[in-house]
Amino acid sequence: MPQPGVSDNGAYLFSKLTCPECGHTEELEMPENACVYFHTCSKCQTRLKAREGDCCVFCSYGDTPCPPVQISAKSCCFDD
Ligand SMILES: [Zn+2]
Repeated sequence: MPQPGVSDNGAYLFSKLTCPECGHTEELEMPENACVYFHTCSKCQTRLKAREGDCCVFCSYGDTPCPPVQISAKSCCFDD
């Protein structure tokens, strides 16, 4: 029986994102197999973008890396 907020693979699906501009934190659910490259801060409306070398905003600004990274230690971004 999977725990809430944890994928079948054992990855955490929630990450607390901290806005680098205003310091606002938001608890967000992460998609299991996709990159979230942009996120707009709900407080200051800054459009956060993943840092160079990071695959998504969660890896750059979250307290938990995205599920593909947790599972395989690899970026979820691959060229098609
Ligand atoms: Zn902000």
